Amino acid sequence: MASTSYQEIRDSLRQLYLDDPRPWLVGFSGGKDSTMVASLVFDAVLAVPPEQRKKEIAVLCTDTRVEIPAIVEIIEETLGRMQKFSRDNGLNIEVQLLRPPPEQSFWVNMIGRGYPPPNRVFRWCTQRMKIDPVSTFVNQRIGHWGEAILHLGARRAESSTRAQAMAGRETRNGLRRHPDLPRVWVFNPIEFFSTEEVWAYLLQKPNAWGADNRALYKLYANASNGECPIQIDTSTPSCGNSRFGCWTCTVVERDKASEGLLAAGDERMEHLLGFRETLLQFRDPANGWRDSRRMNGNDGPGPLTIEGRRELLKRLLRLQEETGLTLITPEELLLIQQMWKAARDPDDGRGVARIVNKQRGVIMSADLKELNRLRELEEEVAREKSINPDILRRMLAKVEEYSDSNRAHGLPDDLLNILKDDLAEQTAGEKG
Ligand code: SF4
Repeated sequence: MASTSYQEIRDSLRQLYLDDPRPWLVGFSGGKDSTMVASLVFDAVLAVPPEQRKKEIAVLCTDTRVEIPAIVEIIEETLGRMQKFSRDNGLNIEVQLLRPPPEQSFWVNMIGRGYPPPNRVFRWCTQRMKIDPVSTFVNQRIGHWGEAILHLGARRAESSTRAQAMAGRETRNGLRRHPDLPRVWVFNPIEFFSTEEVWAYLLQKPNAWGADNRALYKLYANASNGECPIQIDTSTPSCGNSRFGCWTCTVVERDKASEGLLAAGDERMEHLLGFRETLLQFRDPANGWRDSRRMNGNDGPGPLTIEGRRELLKRLLRLQEETGLTLITPEELLLIQQMWKAARDPDDGRGVARIVNKQRGVIMSADLKELNRLRELEEEVAREKSINPDILRRMLAKVEEYSDSNRAHGLPDDLLNILKDDLAEQTAGEKG
């Protein structure tokens, strides 16, 4: 049995609520540990007299937009119930489903920018799709809150690495400083609980928001593996290691959660798992979908070639039709088009529209007259200035890409890389 009982935790949360004026954040992934923490937080607030329920509390959940569909369905339903229960009972708890902006989505980074499907060495996705959306939200709130307490479901029993990391971080009144978010203090109410104790709690007691946890238990039984907790800092080790992560995750050897769901009858997973195999093939440089130069011009496996990106987009749109799931949005398609114009072997600005228009049900308009006029103009300028028109076009597209997202950080490096490509091509031409 845990050294601290459920009742004691709920009471200590209630006391913290009353004694400490700082607002609360609750990390919620839909997995068992964070469900237990959210359940304890709801119970603690319910135990506070209604007239004293003034504290602002936000339950934070991330949706990378490539989450396993069955998980998304459970999470959306749970968040809806939480929000309604809070409203009906004056708990002052809001729920926030945080998503990466379209320019940082999985597809825009991979099919647009050409990032290879992630692996352990180049795991570009967690920061962009999970950590950054939370940091952005928290930093906005901290601007007017000053400080906040973040409740997380981390437990020492998860792994020896986790136990060491938790033991090594200094606590003050049971709170630890967040490693990346200044002015955020972390509380781990179920730090010393075992997995069995977490399930015992969840299966004995329905959540305040009116759902028992049997569906969650069934999901775990089907997926027969761990969970991917909410990613709030870079020291959290589990993303892309234990599951449930994204269905596109190529960091794990096998996606056992998706396989388990398929075995349990979720047929959508068959198509999604097939696409994951495609991603693994595209990542392997031996299969010819990767550039032989890195993004910075050095030798070595580089971004996906423009041909590779086109092929992936075709297959993704086909997958969308097969599964009936919305996998990519028109906004992402426009961003991808923009990025293809700045790629090596740049696209003429119509490649995405050509692919999309072939697919039923996806509409994407391209003003061809306008594009042709622009192209002629670029060629004229390039001739006048004796610049390679492809290089000029790529640089213009890169500037446009950055100005669309209202940022400049990284632009000089990207422009320099395009110039390096030009130099490399010229040198190769002279040698030839
Ligand atoms: S689950 Fe995999 S694909 Fe998703 S963010 Fe984590 S490492 Fe990346």
